[in-house]
Amino acid sequence: MNKIVDVTGGKGGNAFLILGEEKTALIDCGMAYCAPNLISNIKQVLNKMTLNYIFISHSHYDHIGAIPYLKEEWPNSRVLGAEYAKRILNRSNALQTIRGLSIQAAAFYDSDAIKEYDDKMLKVDDTIYDGDILDLGNLHIKVIETLGHTKCSLSFLVNNETLFPSESTGYMSKSRKIYPAFITSCSQAMNSIHICQKIKPRFIISPHFGLVNESDTINYWENCIFAIEETQNFILHLSEQGYNESQILTEYEKKFRDEQSRLEQPINAFRLNSQSMIKTVLKEKFHL
Ligand SMILES: [Zn+2]
Repeated sequence: MNKIVDVTGGKGGNAFLILGEEKTALIDCGMAYCAPNLISNIKQVLNKMTLNYIFISHSHYDHIGAIPYLKEEWPNSRVLGAEYAKRILNRSNALQTIRGLSIQAAAFYDSDAIKEYDDKMLKVDDTIYDGDILDLGNLHIKVIETLGHTKCSLSFLVNNETLFPSESTGYMSKSRKIYPAFITSCSQAMNSIHICQKIKPRFIISPHFGLVNESDTINYWENCIFAIEETQNFILHLSEQGYNESQILTEYEKKFRDEQSRLEQPINAFRLNSQSMIKTVLKEKFHL
């Protein structure tokens, strides 16, 4: 674990640096506003080495927003992501959305305005696929496709013992409760949990949380499954009683918008995510 360093540059923008003997890699980089702190944290750890790779778990702004600034600092670094993420980042409307959300986030986290960047810098350089292994010298990273949060979600396994599960499996909040985060597919998210569970990783780095402590690691995957099932059952039950999507959202908010969620997530983001999960559950209802 001493070769894996938390270099997070700001709230909500977790980033970890992996130090091989020959090469180095960053796993996710956080939002645009995180870039100044992120870069100074990385520099402190790198010492005389350079940053070789930037692995992205998916194409959401809160995981990739700092890429243009990293590329400015380390022009030879390569951004590695799924084929679908590469396609998304070629679309001007996606880049515009990312820019808008990055600016909003800087305000939400009370940061200075973000520095100007070129959209062309925000892209995947090389595509990576399920089963790919990248050698950093005495240390390797394995790519594991784990869909459900997005169509480009990837998990990363370092040296067969430390897993960075993608957000498809859910994420741990500061209260240590697991929240579901399937946006594109509930059944794929469930499958992603099973894939991660089979690996039996010794250490888990939960999205937006960081290293899960030992006692929470034991039941981590069961809790991820429970989180999805709880949400799924709640939505299906209301739907069977004749509630429509917006009525389900109202009830969902009453039940799941707890104190912790209020602290960690703006209401608009909570509603958008909940809405997607409701739509996804209802859409997949007939395929269960
Ligand atoms: Zn995401």
